[in-house]
Amino acid sequence: MIKAVFFDIDNTLLDFNKCAFTSMEKAFELRGMKSPARLQQVFVRINDCLWRRIEKGELTREGLQKIRFNLIFAELGIELDGIEFERDFQEALSISSEKVDGAEDILKYLSGKYRLFVTSNAPHSQQTNRLELAGLAKYFESIFTSGLIGHPKPSKDFFNGCMAFLPELSRQEIIIIGDSLTADIIGGAENGFKTCWFNYGKIVISEKLGLSKEPKPDYTVSSLGEIKNIL
Ligand SMILES: [Mg+2]
Repeated sequence: MIKAVFFDIDNTLLDFNKCAFTSMEKAFELRGMKSPARLQQVFVRINDCLWRRIEKGELTREGLQKIRFNLIFAELGIELDGIEFERDFQEALSISSEKVDGAEDILKYLSGKYRLFVTSNAPHSQQTNRLELAGLAKYFESIFTSGLIGHPKPSKDFFNGCMAFLPELSRQEIIIIGDSLTADIIGGAENGFKTCWFNYGKIVISEKLGLSKEPKPDYTVSSLGEIKNIL
């Protein structure tokens, strides 16, 4: 029987792509520039690639911040300092809180029935702040970030770190809900949790996703409202 939910934040409760685009626009504005046309597409591809490397433990978040925009600008043929741009981007991002449709409604619905927690790969203060600004922090008992635990999701150390705070719960009583097939679904299942894949990008799972294992979520939803059919 499920007693608790581990919610991912980005592209599950908060629309990270929307938050990132508005933050990049602000950073370009500071430089008197407009966002280049291919920016969104190039950002998503390079950023996703770098995050897969973080999940595998091949790269740190600090490492990502040093190379992300230099890689993006090189591809776009823009001559800007990627590290300085990253700083302005982070500042804008830390106050960005665009919600995914139905986020507040589903948290309101679940909060009476289950214990709710956040599991997210990002700096602790940034994620706490963004959830506060979105008005969603109040639904969670604890916010477990890689920043707080000291290891990235989905490493064993990350989940062991979360479970150390919850000795009264077993992993089979917890369901992870998130958009990442690697961090939330494959990682969650390997660590003994139930999983619900939020297929935010409407991906066909049979497509070649470059994954080393086949993801087998216990449940799949393509809108947050559908979670009511499961929990
Ligand atoms: Mg996510």
